[in-house]
Amino acid sequence: MDLDLLGQRLGEAGEPDYRRGQAWAWQARGARDWEAMTDLPAGLRERLAAEVPFSTLELEAEEVSSDGTVKALFLTADRRPVEAVLMSYRDGRRSVCLSSQSGCPLTCTFCATGSMKFGRNLTAWEIVDQALHFRRRAELNHCVFMGMGEPMMNLDAVLGACGLLPDLGITSRRTAVSTVGWVPGIDRLAAQPRPLRLALSLHAADDALRSEIMPVNDRYPVSEVIAACNRFYEAKRRMVFVEYVMLAGVNDQVGQALALADLLDPKRYKVNLIPYNPSGSPYEGSGKAAIEAFRATLEDQGIRATVRLTRGRDIDAACGQLAARAA
Ligand code: SAH
Repeated sequence: MDLDLLGQRLGEAGEPDYRRGQAWAWQARGARDWEAMTDLPAGLRERLAAEVPFSTLELEAEEVSSDGTVKALFLTADRRPVEAVLMSYRDGRRSVCLSSQSGCPLTCTFCATGSMKFGRNLTAWEIVDQALHFRRRAELNHCVFMGMGEPMMNLDAVLGACGLLPDLGITSRRTAVSTVGWVPGIDRLAAQPRPLRLALSLHAADDALRSEIMPVNDRYPVSEVIAACNRFYEAKRRMVFVEYVMLAGVNDQVGQALALADLLDPKRYKVNLIPYNPSGSPYEGSGKAAIEAFRATLEDQGIRATVRLTRGRDIDAACGQLAARAA
């Protein structure tokens, strides 16, 4: 919900400011419509229902994976596609994966979002409304900005959303912002006060290969990106997660694991190896044995490394698969 618009309409209706907070509290707790907000006068609820859209996003389609993962496709008011994913785990963790942009202007060669047309930055309300959609279904406790788009290129709106997520039960400590290594954004994230987590999509330890698969590397090469992440660690004292998608014969050799280990201070970084999800790119994912050998090499070098659990692949909801094909 656009809370600015709500504030404006409340003002026009001569209502006190606290009505905005009341309405927001209902939303954050998963209310489904204006009707549910029983501490607002009935006449006001009716008026707001006519004047303020309950969500800035319209649900266009929703799919449920065999593993329970849910993917929602929304449209913004100007008909831009946006996808978000809800992942539920046995231990009670319920994590939303949010998009910060419709499409993505970067063109990482292995990513489906990178191959779709870039639309525009989302507003903070459009980001929060993705989470609110799932909040109506279940209580949430984790958030990752790993959906469509590059959050650091839309950081004002992302931080605006991060200011509201705690009301939904998602604290900043349980919120991770993932980036291709957009250096000015990393520095801004380090300078702002919230204890947000940083995840870095690295995918290669050497510039030649990284530039080939992630053209943004020409702008922010590996050494500059790692230096920025080191500054983030110094400022926040929070470990940085390195994401590394495993592409067969491209970046999955043992020598490349050694080069990666050389780059990372084990006190500051943890590596998350991501099995490649089919995304229409020419790559093949590394096999189980190659992934395990890569992980073991990192561990031998003292770097903590885990393999990311693949979720929602059967509905194209896994990492790198969000491309709003239905739109
Ligand atoms: N632009 C940000 C946020 C997107 S996060 C970023 O790149 O960090 C999405 C994650 O999925 C990134 O780590 C991305 O590199 C990874 N990814 C992209 N395509 C993938 C694929 N086909 N299989 C597995 N992971 C992929």
